[in-house]
Amino acid sequence: MTAQLIDGRAVAASVHERVRLGIAERLAAGLRAPALATILVGDDPASHVYVRNKRTTCEKVGIRSVPVQFGADVTQAELIGQVDRLNADPEIDGILVQLPLPPQIDATLVTERIRADKDVDGFHPYNIGRLAQRLPTLRSCTPYGVIELLRSVQEPFKGRRAVVVGASNHVGRPMALELLLAGATTTVCHRFTADLGAEVARADIVVVAVGKPGLIKGEWIKPGATVIDVGMNRLADGRLVGDCEFDVARQRAAFITPVPGGVGPMTVAMLMLNTLQAAALHD
Ligand code: NAP
Repeated sequence: MTAQLIDGRAVAASVHERVRLGIAERLAAGLRAPALATILVGDDPASHVYVRNKRTTCEKVGIRSVPVQFGADVTQAELIGQVDRLNADPEIDGILVQLPLPPQIDATLVTERIRADKDVDGFHPYNIGRLAQRLPTLRSCTPYGVIELLRSVQEPFKGRRAVVVGASNHVGRPMALELLLAGATTTVCHRFTADLGAEVARADIVVVAVGKPGLIKGEWIKPGATVIDVGMNRLADGRLVGDCEFDVARQRAAFITPVPGGVGPMTVAMLMLNTLQAAALHD
């Protein structure tokens, strides 16, 4: 068996189209375009690339992009002050603070300062709590995007066994809550899992989000499973790869995401969808 590739760029493009249509409907109804403020701190090259991509996508879909930039020496008080101003601004629907933040900043404090109804990253404890209680509001972008990818290949979820590898606050944990919400029987594996191979081998759906190339052996994949690789690792030769041994896994899985071109484009697409949804919360 050779797995069918799940084309994240194509699914993301369809989400962009939904957002464009939603914005056109707002404008036709006399409402303003949604606005997203993106706060970038310091000179981390990867953060600059991510934020530029988010700002460009805003412009493409019709979201007003409000860029905010700070030097790496910004103080906690300055950053919190900026978040407070954006929280109070009735013309701003979403606030995104690009992580990581410099060591003098408490990222948890900043994340929790963003008003929950403007938290378009879906990281605020309120939004994670809503998801845990099966009442999702603004959902964490990457896990939400993974669900969208799975739906694009008619994943039934109910009666299926899902295994999430990685248990971070931003990806693994909300991913498990999303899969549970969708109806899959869900297991979370982390660095203390005794036999990762055995857990993965039982899974109909494998979602890997660790950041270690080759962690998931291709031969562990159950024949016919769906594999979603969230991992993004830059190798010494410059190649970008996921956490799963792609070539071997592809010979066993029914569906698999490539890296790049799988989950990556979905994270930004769901950010756009969340911003549109946040605007509706502010009408
Ligand atoms: P993270 O915060 O570093 O979390 C990684 C998680 O994996 C942690 O829970 C860690 O455990 C766990 N882990 C470490 N070693 C493990 C092992 N041997 N077996 C099982 N679990 C293990 O990273 P993240 O933010 O979740 O991101 C994970 C990966 O996804 C990274 O490669 C990142 O670049 C990528 N990513 C991609 C996108 C996208 O849009 N495509 C978005 C977000 C992240 P501890 O908690 O005990 O350390």
